[in-house]
Amino acid sequence: MSDVNLSEINSLARQLVHDLVPYASARSSMSGGAIWLNANENALAPAYQLDGTFNRYPSCQPKAVINAYADYAGVAAEQVLVSRGADEGIELLIRSFCEPKQDSITLCPPTYGMYAISAESNQTAVNKVLLLNSESLDLPGIFATNPKLVFICSPNNPTGDVIAQQQIIAVLEHFNGRALVVVDEAYIEFAPEASVVPLLSRYPHLVVLRTLSKAFGLAGLRCGFTLGSVDVINALKKMIAPYPIAEPVAQIAAMALSAAGIAQMQQSVATINQLRSNFIAVAQHLPGVSRVWPSNANYVLLQVTDAAECVSALIKEDILIRNQSSQLGLSQVVRVSIGNPDEMQRLITAMQNYFLNDKRVSA
Ligand SMILES: *Cc1c(COP(=O)(O)O)cnc(C)c1O
Repeated sequence: MSDVNLSEINSLARQLVHDLVPYASARSSMSGGAIWLNANENALAPAYQLDGTFNRYPSCQPKAVINAYADYAGVAAEQVLVSRGADEGIELLIRSFCEPKQDSITLCPPTYGMYAISAESNQTAVNKVLLLNSESLDLPGIFATNPKLVFICSPNNPTGDVIAQQQIIAVLEHFNGRALVVVDEAYIEFAPEASVVPLLSRYPHLVVLRTLSKAFGLAGLRCGFTLGSVDVINALKKMIAPYPIAEPVAQIAAMALSAAGIAQMQQSVATINQLRSNFIAVAQHLPGVSRVWPSNANYVLLQVTDAAECVSALIKEDILIRNQSSQLGLSQVVRVSIGNPDEMQRLITAMQNYFLNDKRVSA
């Protein structure tokens, strides 16, 4: 036992694990700073109290949470799966529908990084079909792939805008009976009219991902939802762990999905949408900002002269934003999450100092 050294342990791990580059989350890759505008969290967070004892195992799919989310989303309870964040929903979809070393998924960069990472850890190939002008789907490019799952993120992270519903319908029509079309609506509360949930009744191969991490201000809770036809949900239920949702998580999620919780979320969405419009109006007039993507979410993507320098200049002001320049199809871009009014004022002042005043000195 004692002579088993670390390198021998490492050699026991699968080749896949040696090769895997884990997801660099905003939280793991940057620390410090007082103002966190790098992870698309919601600074207008409600506070919750717990009560009760926790000696019993929780329900796998707590009814109060499932029923409340079904009501909120306008679907039947059998069409809802609750999981440890939308991230677990992504992983379950890939593990349930993609045969390792055989099937593939299609995604449209620049987009959320976890689709590709979950695919890789399930030995599933990834077809990357870039967004056109980092805005719209390249339909012929997508139709040239032969995947089991197509991931479409709308509003898209990190670009911020919604994908036109006609394009999503075209993808659904093309892949009817051949692949699932997964629409990631992690930010849909910021543009609720763009939701494709009403299409679920027409397309049994449509799947929608949702989360409490963004508009609901509960990223620390780790609670997300997959919406789809009963057959899709039942397949995922076979693969999910027996107790994926801790009892305290279920209790808080049920409170967040009460009428009062939803009203509070909608209030914070209205505030954030207003703060975002104000920020975009300022950013559009800063020299050195060459493009501001339209946003229907709680973040804004900006093209700047030197993204790394811009991020460093703001770190010196105690403000964290995210460099997204390594994304396929983007260069020299930073993503700014919308914080509370005070944080946005400090951000705007810091950006004005950096872009308008003595840029070299402050950087
Ligand atoms: C944040 C995010 C997720 C993950 O949500 P969790 O519920 O926190 O796991 C999924 N998709 C997109 C596009 C996101 O930005």
